[in-house]
Amino acid sequence: MSTDITKVRKDFLCYIVDDEESIRGILQEALGAAGYQVELFPTADLAYARIKEAPPHVILSDIRMPGMSGIQLLEKVRELSSDIQFIVMTSHASLETAINAIRLGAYDYLHKPFEDLADVITTVDRTVEMLFLQYQNEQLLEELGHKNKALTSLNARIAKEKEEVVRINTLMSQLAKVHDVNETIQVFLDNVSQLCADEKVIFLRYLPAYNSLMVSHASKISIEELRKTGINLSGIEPKLIMDNLKNPQGMAKLSELMQQVFNVKEFLAIPVETKEEFVGIIVVCSDVSDVSVRRVFDSYVQIFQVSYSNAALQKRIHNMAIKDPLTGLHNRRYFNDKLDEEVTRSRRTKMPVSLVYMDIDHFKKYNDQNGHPMGDQLLKMVATVLQKTSRKNDVVCRIGGEEFVLILPHTDSRGAAIKAEKLRRIIEATKFPFGEKQPLGMISMSMGVSEYPSVSGDAESLVKAADEALYHAKQTSRNCVALAAPPPGFKPDFEPIPVVSADGQRRG
Ligand code: GH3
Ligand code: MG
Ligand code: MG
Repeated sequence: MSTDITKVRKDFLCYIVDDEESIRGILQEALGAAGYQVELFPTADLAYARIKEAPPHVILSDIRMPGMSGIQLLEKVRELSSDIQFIVMTSHASLETAINAIRLGAYDYLHKPFEDLADVITTVDRTVEMLFLQYQNEQLLEELGHKNKALTSLNARIAKEKEEVVRINTLMSQLAKVHDVNETIQVFLDNVSQLCADEKVIFLRYLPAYNSLMVSHASKISIEELRKTGINLSGIEPKLIMDNLKNPQGMAKLSELMQQVFNVKEFLAIPVETKEEFVGIIVVCSDVSDVSVRRVFDSYVQIFQVSYSNAALQKRIHNMAIKDPLTGLHNRRYFNDKLDEEVTRSRRTKMPVSLVYMDIDHFKKYNDQNGHPMGDQLLKMVATVLQKTSRKNDVVCRIGGEEFVLILPHTDSRGAAIKAEKLRRIIEATKFPFGEKQPLGMISMSMGVSEYPSVSGDAESLVKAADEALYHAKQTSRNCVALAAPPPGFKPDFEPIPVVSADGQRRG
């Protein structure tokens, strides 16, 4: 990069120090005409006083002067700054003095008297050019420093954003693997906890039927500890409930809960809702102020909302496939699958499994007398009774019009017969609408009981045996329980382990 120094001369200030007025005059004229700013000083002392308040770029100084010498001035200037360039002016006779000055930090020297003033200008130009290049270099270095800083912060930002993308991807790939609503919530909470430095995170599920929020999931704290922890919304004016739920950070009842249960004043509460429903509130037990964390958090919530909707939809589809829409009981398809599963399990565990087939007596008559819709109502009521009287592991299904079946795992035919008889009596004793108009004077059910492995060798024959026993009950008197017997010469697959009933007595 070459510089046309003539264009920048005006930006440079030269001090001329010489006790000879004629020299000062010549130099002022020559340098001034070239474009330099020039100031003149008859003594080094005067020059030095001025240098301290307004440092020039270049000093052209005589060496021998009354008072402070040029060399002394050079030394004092060097104490002030290394940026001010010094050119000594010396007579031909004292070349040694000039060389000495260069050793002390002068940039160049000029011989007096001046043979050609153009040489003087050239010398000053060379000095100024050096300064000019030095300034340019400093500027470039400074610029480079700024660029480096910007690059470093850009790199840090990219690294941070990369980390955010990785986090978001991790959550997405984990959620893609789960299809269950509860698992979806748990995966979400665990990821949020990780994101927030392993802070405790809870999920308050909105239960519209109970007008409340209940802690249903948690991360970094046992859900057992939080059983029955929640917020009753009944104190809030009904039309304000949704507003409250959607702005949980300002919800007084939530602050109270966080204070009482977790002893925290600072927390982050985010509402979670899908297009279909308000799902609940996620609460992190500390304030989350980091911008990057908040950004990832917001993405998490959006991803969760989509995953949750998807899981809820899949659950609904799944239920449609396995549930009877009228009664909400499991349907025949589910029954078939479940029975195969239970028989297989029974083979493995050597525990028996029983079936109770049930059919409402004279249901056709009930329909005829009271109308089909009333018949539907009765089916629903009977289903409710069956559901309420069943244990958690019992499987209740509606497999036909007024036909129901119970799968009783870990139950032999004796236990199943006791359960069936109990159920028959409950139905008989229940006052269903228009039951008294039925041929038997009440709503009743006939039942057939069979068992694997004592009576049948597989799921199919188990069903057939229960159905035949039911037929037998219908043939006998209706409103009774019939037990299937094994076919002649039947050999069970295995000798089942004797079953212990809930009251501790051995059955079988
Ligand atoms: P039994 O004592 O021998 O069992 O006689 P029943 O009349 O109960 O038996 P049957 O099989 O002759 O009649 C069953 C009736 O159930 C016939 C059918 O119209 C009715 N039904 C089947 N599905 C439904 C349903 O979903 N809703 C209603 N309301 N009725 C149904
Ligand atoms: Mg019937
Ligand atoms: Mg029938």
